Amino acid sequence: DIAKVPVMIDSSKWEVIEAGLKCVQGKSVVNSISLKEGEDVFREQASRAKAYGAAVIVMAFDENGQADTLERRKEVCRRAYTILVDDVGMPPEDVIFDPNVFAVATGIEAHNRYAADYVETVRWIRRNLPHARVSGGVSNVSFSFRGNERVREAMHSAFLYHAVRAGMDMGIVNAGQIGVYESIDPELLEAVEDVLLDRRPDATERLVTLAERFSRSSMRAGAAEVAEWRTLPVNDRLRHAILQGVVEHVEADTEEARLKASSPIHVIEGPLMDAMSHVGDLFADGQMFLPQVVKSARVMKKSVAHLVPFIEAEKKDGGEVASRPRILLATVRGDVHDIGKNIVGVVLGCNDYEIIDLGVMVPAARIVEEARRQEVAAVGLSGLITPSLDEMVHVAREFEREGFTIPLLIGGATTSKIHTAVRIAPAYSGPVLHVLDASRSVGAVSRLLDPQTREAYVAEVAQEYGELVRKHGKGGAVTGLLDLEDARGNALESDWAAIPVTQPASPGLHALDDVTVATLRPYIDWTPFFQAWELRGHFPAILDDPDRGEEARTLLADAEALLDRIEAEDLIRPRGVVGLFGAASTGDDILVFDGDERDRPVAVLRTLRQQSRKSAGRANRALADFIAPEGSGVKDWIGAFAVTAGHGVQEMVAAFSADHDDYGVIMAKALADRLAEAFAEYVHREVRRELWGFAPDETLTNEDLVAERYRGIRPAPGYPAQPDHTEKWVIWDLLGVEERAGIGLTESLAMWPAASVCGLIFAHPDAEYFNVGMIGRDQVADYAERKGVTLEEMERWLSPRLAYDPGA
Ligand code: SAH
Repeated sequence: DIAKVPVMIDSSKWEVIEAGLKCVQGKSVVNSISLKEGEDVFREQASRAKAYGAAVIVMAFDENGQADTLERRKEVCRRAYTILVDDVGMPPEDVIFDPNVFAVATGIEAHNRYAADYVETVRWIRRNLPHARVSGGVSNVSFSFRGNERVREAMHSAFLYHAVRAGMDMGIVNAGQIGVYESIDPELLEAVEDVLLDRRPDATERLVTLAERFSRSSMRAGAAEVAEWRTLPVNDRLRHAILQGVVEHVEADTEEARLKASSPIHVIEGPLMDAMSHVGDLFADGQMFLPQVVKSARVMKKSVAHLVPFIEAEKKDGGEVASRPRILLATVRGDVHDIGKNIVGVVLGCNDYEIIDLGVMVPAARIVEEARRQEVAAVGLSGLITPSLDEMVHVAREFEREGFTIPLLIGGATTSKIHTAVRIAPAYSGPVLHVLDASRSVGAVSRLLDPQTREAYVAEVAQEYGELVRKHGKGGAVTGLLDLEDARGNALESDWAAIPVTQPASPGLHALDDVTVATLRPYIDWTPFFQAWELRGHFPAILDDPDRGEEARTLLADAEALLDRIEAEDLIRPRGVVGLFGAASTGDDILVFDGDERDRPVAVLRTLRQQSRKSAGRANRALADFIAPEGSGVKDWIGAFAVTAGHGVQEMVAAFSADHDDYGVIMAKALADRLAEAFAEYVHREVRRELWGFAPDETLTNEDLVAERYRGIRPAPGYPAQPDHTEKWVIWDLLGVEERAGIGLTESLAMWPAASVCGLIFAHPDAEYFNVGMIGRDQVADYAERKGVTLEEMERWLSPRLAYDPGA
């Protein structure tokens, strides 16, 4: 219910706007008010808007009508500004001018300066009316070319290009009707700009003539257009190919460019780097999305790969090769996840850094050694699972011990700024920086490595992190936890007589060897796939998103195409195992039995209990609460599973890598992750309907499944309801996961191959996911004893959850 962006209330009737202002929370924007009906009405409406805390859009309109010349626009805006700021007392940053975008190229001479004057007015407002902002209804400008989408797109892009540079802050435009300015056909662009900037008297006539040739419906490559860019000079072709991510001709073009250049390195330093850094800028600017960037990088890499042998040959002849700053990337020991790291590598690679990627599961010693040998400028550490947090602290200590001073960048799903500041930064005297995602990495790295900005940036980060550490020190110690005994006293109580308990139809172990990718595809949840590509939003709504919909559709089409190939060529072989066992809880443990034989448990699952103080009526839960207790007379059951879609992925990745295709690499890994999650969804459904059969008639759509509208849960070890990753060992023994599904565990308990999922299955109708939260020393000691390990070892595994300082 909370809007992250301001709501703009749009009406020509003031009463309607005011009705809206009464309902909208937060800061809204009124669209619009003007001097059309004179100063009194204007003043009155403005003070009301101000009373509601809203910003206002002011149309350049007065008693004499719309302002349509430069002079009139300036005059009306200045007058409105003075009244608003000086009389009404409106904060000037809440004043947004709309100095009227009118149609150009109408054939009426008086209209020729409309666009140019708009741009001039914007510039003037930014200089003369401090803090005021400027908006505009962009699509108007191309009104005379209705029906010719190609020309309209070009006009909108070019208009925005100039207006934004003059200081335009916001505008209304059909986002499907804008393209990348740089990709507009040069001839068309020139004609369009002649019109927009009123550069020649016959501009309209020339554009109208040219428009006929460009009357195809879109700017995307049609057959004729391909031919068109193919006729450009070779460097421009390379640039076009990189910007548009077209790989088809890149080898031939690179070769042609190489023959023309005095040295192959000049091709890289010239057209390739130019185009890539432009891609970097467009990405930073939000004009390009991550998948496009990765496709651009693929073109670049292929071109570079073609040039490398020639560069090597030249080096042998004593030629000079300028070196780019090197950045070392590694996923830390025990961790196998690297999609985010790969993306960061590609994005940094676009920005003139040389990336050395050591891959996954890299021990600290190797990171240190390579950092020294390769003389890198910075090191990026990545990790996804919680034990990697400690491993990163260890790596930082090693860098300290070895006397390094280069920056360490920290990234990955479980990392955070606070953990970086509190735990990692104090272990290393060089700069340590948490990098949120690929799009932020470039700015951070360039500020860190540029001698001009480095010192100030390091000081800024040190100050910010120091502040976090101080705050953490104050509020960090968790107080007010219940004693373990009291928490147990408030466990979730179930009326076992009233809870349906179903004897599984097929108890015991089931190897899942013949599940196909085709079976799994319908179970894919696509939302996290778009997240992996940094396109945020829900599937399927994201496909119609005005900003990223087009990119999302392209990405999905590429994904479906690769899935088709995976299916047709049998590239991924899903494997898994699921087991259904007798179960009884005893305290916070779950005894697991071989079927109905309830005498001797074949395994014991340990669970952790919430210790934070709950409000009345809320239990302190542990997963064990969802299983009928020993001695209750109820014979309960539990399930466990482990599945993977990772077999075959390494081979696919190797093939894409050999082809310098990072897009394919990331796509293959992201899809394998999706298939693994889909597999878990599928297995869980099979269990509910058939193998266990407590919900035989369930008919849920994939949307329902994603929304978890079924009975029971499948909590995963390492997740909030059971933060202890070492419970995976129990599941591995119980199910024989290694032999039956070929999934291994690393020393940090990451599953390998990475595209794997495991969990327990509970059928209790009230079972829900919850968060164990922070736990006290009493529970950790009790838990360690139950598991038969030392307190210290348990504290190491649970370190992010400890409500106390284990050293103290
Ligand atoms: N549809 C998603 C499903 C994965 S995330 C996808 O395709 O990516 C949801 C899974 O995470 C759950 O099925 C469960 O296994 C795990 N999970 C979520 N919250 C949890 C919690 N609090 N405790 C334990 N496991 C949890």
